[in-house]
Amino acid sequence: MKESSLGKEPTARFLRREELRVHPERSRIGHELIEQRLRAAGFRGGISTEQKYLKAYSTDESIFSIKPQMILQPRDGADVERAVRVVASEIDRFPALSLTPRAAGTGLSGGSLTDSIVIDVCSHLHHIHDISTHRGVTTITLDPGVPWRAMERRLKEHGVYVPSYPASKDICSIGGAVANNAAGPDTLRYGHTADWVESLEVVLHDGKTYTIKQITHKEYTNLIKRHNAYADILKRVMELLEEHETSIHRARPKTKKNTAGYALWDVLSGSVADFKKGKSTMDMTRLFSGSQGTIGIITQMTLRTIAISKHTTLLAVPIFDLSVASHVVTAALPYNPINLELFDALTFELALKNPGFFKPRMTSASYYHAILSMYTTYHVRWLRRTPELVFLITLDRTTNPEPVLAAIRKAGGTRARVVTNTDEVEMFWQIRRASFSLTKLMDQSKRPAAFLEDMVVPPEDLGKFFAEIQRLFKKYSVRAAVHGHGGNGHFHFYPLLDFTKKTTGDLVTKMAEDFYDTALKHHGTICGEHNDGIIRTPHLDKLFSKKMLAIFAELEHIFDPDDIFNPGKKVNPRFDIKQSLRHEN
Ligand SMILES: Cc1cc2nc3c(=O)[nH]c(=O)nc-3n(C[C@H](O)[C@H](O)[C@H](O)COP(=O)(O)OP(=O)(O)OC[C@H]3O[C@@H](n4cnc5c(N)ncnc54)[C@H](O)[C@@H]3O)c2cc1C
Repeated sequence: MKESSLGKEPTARFLRREELRVHPERSRIGHELIEQRLRAAGFRGGISTEQKYLKAYSTDESIFSIKPQMILQPRDGADVERAVRVVASEIDRFPALSLTPRAAGTGLSGGSLTDSIVIDVCSHLHHIHDISTHRGVTTITLDPGVPWRAMERRLKEHGVYVPSYPASKDICSIGGAVANNAAGPDTLRYGHTADWVESLEVVLHDGKTYTIKQITHKEYTNLIKRHNAYADILKRVMELLEEHETSIHRARPKTKKNTAGYALWDVLSGSVADFKKGKSTMDMTRLFSGSQGTIGIITQMTLRTIAISKHTTLLAVPIFDLSVASHVVTAALPYNPINLELFDALTFELALKNPGFFKPRMTSASYYHAILSMYTTYHVRWLRRTPELVFLITLDRTTNPEPVLAAIRKAGGTRARVVTNTDEVEMFWQIRRASFSLTKLMDQSKRPAAFLEDMVVPPEDLGKFFAEIQRLFKKYSVRAAVHGHGGNGHFHFYPLLDFTKKTTGDLVTKMAEDFYDTALKHHGTICGEHNDGIIRTPHLDKLFSKKMLAIFAELEHIFDPDDIFNPGKKVNPRFDIKQSLRHEN
């Protein structure tokens, strides 16, 4: 990679740091010099300011497009340290500088986009270092750029997996999943990615690497005696937790899934008083998981795993009357299913109309069996009526399906049944996974837009919420195939929008207000697993009080006093949504 074109740019006025919070333009001159400083500091990886790379890094899977000024591809953790030290040392002279980590770039909220420096952790940091088992728990130690699928393949040899796998596991990396605190179907039983983090190697604002893991009060008192950035951060985070203990616990979103804000409520396993008495522990990996690269850069991680469940049972529950949807979900939840997923009528109709979509995704034998099964389900089992929603519920082998079926049928899911045919099982999962891509088939000239795609409501409100959202889609005359994690009350709505149109910015703004208000009316959150990024950071005041936002800002400042890590995400929004929108579909 090479070469710089920045030297030809006119010198912009240097902006004061306070101005940067609201000013989308950042001075370019610092980036030119930084290349020389990085090499002088011994940075061994790739550095580029070439337009084609800047363009390639200017989009992710979100609705935004923001051109960076430089791309770094660190060779190892030492390179990441060098980059942080150089940027930190130049920040007073060049306040425009910052470092935004990017992994596979599949994020939907714009977390990895910046107008300053992108630090790409996938290009070289993609090695699996160790898989070992102690006291029955298998852990894996790996670089942030390891693709999720590669990790999964290696773990499968040991009969284990990381159960928070996202639907994007074929395309995302493990580092991005930790930094976003990603989640997926099995999160219903097993939680978010943060729940599986054993320890992290993290480069902090002083350009040094620290090991972050769960600690006891005794370990805490020893650590804070040291003279380093981590000791200072630990002490100040503890003061913050102590001073605002009640506010922090009250602010915790009530939904089971959430990636909005910083998870301060999860740092201590008990109260501050309990921690001081040695009765609970402190775990800063809880803050790093889901922090979107705003408080430091993860250079290595160790994750816990769990045995892969074999011989599971799938229940399929077609819902023809939305008024029973919530009752069905709440009837199934006490049986602790591994997952409880959903897709809507439009998804199924699109699958029926486009069987060829599945052909390249399956072997030819299973493709024909699955398609036959899809038509049989529609024509014979459902008598040519498409259900409003279909719930897919996976039980482990220790759970007897009969009482679960009885409870679901009593709650109104009268057509619930066990799916015994493996082709039909495959058919249902193919359709569930395809919902997002099937949306595109309605109009290939538009883009399924990610900005309403992460709302969660308590499962008790799921049916009413879904019906209201359908009405809102009609109001705005847009269509979206819907899928989601029904057990968590979590819906993914991706309306088809045309980003070449000038009016799309206004539409996004209006729809976001209306849809988010609807989620909040149902005591939900606007951010279940895809994190805040550019799209949701400006809306966090809908979820959190002014005081809580100030606590988040204070926390970010403790970790990142010069605002060098991914500014504008999670706190202090600085990207204008309309101006930052992509212009291509
Ligand atoms: C079709 C599709 C389906 C999806 N399904 C799901 C789903 O089911 N569940 C889900 O949770 N998400 C889902 N996503 C969103 C996304 O794929 C996941 O959140 C994924 O885990 C992000 O990984 P990534 O490697 O692409 O990270 P990136 O997008 O590159 O980065 C994500 C964030 O992490 C930060 N970051 C990256 N690396 C580091 C690091 N080393 N240190 C510190 N910060 C870092 C970045 O700055 C950014 O803010 C989906 C996306 C698509 C396109």
